[in-house]
Amino acid sequence: MNQQLASFFRSVFQVIYPESCCICGTDLVRGEDYVCTVCAFDLPYITANEQDVTKLNKLFWGRVEVQKVYSLFNYQKGNHVQTILHYIKYKSRPNIAIHFGEVLARSIAENQGLDCIVPVPLHPKKERARGFNQSQAIAQGLANELNLPIYKSHIIRNSFNQSQTKFSKYDRYENVRSIFSVVKAKELEGKHVLLVDDVLTTGATIESCAAELLQVSGCKVSIATLAARV
Ligand SMILES: [Zn+2]
Repeated sequence: MNQQLASFFRSVFQVIYPESCCICGTDLVRGEDYVCTVCAFDLPYITANEQDVTKLNKLFWGRVEVQKVYSLFNYQKGNHVQTILHYIKYKSRPNIAIHFGEVLARSIAENQGLDCIVPVPLHPKKERARGFNQSQAIAQGLANELNLPIYKSHIIRNSFNQSQTKFSKYDRYENVRSIFSVVKAKELEGKHVLLVDDVLTTGATIESCAAELLQVSGCKVSIATLAARV
């Protein structure tokens, strides 16, 4: 279908089923994507606040070695960022995640030496229930803009069974307790990975994922999330 025709059908479709702002619910007009201009203007962009960017980059200090942390929005309980995240997850709207992934990518300067994008895996049961992994959708948006490959199956989420939990009292067996495992480690050797998740609050999940990646020889990690609590 040519561009004009596609645009015509989109307009007709919008008249019948107008897309509405996922925050305030008003009908969107042409040129607005998922969020109306008024709501978009009010969103707390981390990238617009230098202090927040500094706080963001210090989040993993003393925990795990991370090159850079990128995040679009400041997440606070009850703010509109929470509404967007909720919309993505529970109303099954991967397109919004892809869209904001693209917006996030535009805030990442070129020449960061990134080689590939790795989305934090969801628990398979959760992914089946939701129909998609929101981190993977955000990764798709980032990949569209940054022209980087997505490594979807290089890290897996372990499911624990009874026999594994008994190890938890032995702190030194940390690898036994890991939530994630790297597979296809060879392909990650020497790579600078952009690790992607939807939201960064305590950072525990993403820290655990990064720690696994850092065990791969020569692997470096940067982190990108749609939102972070700073
Ligand atoms: Zn709105």
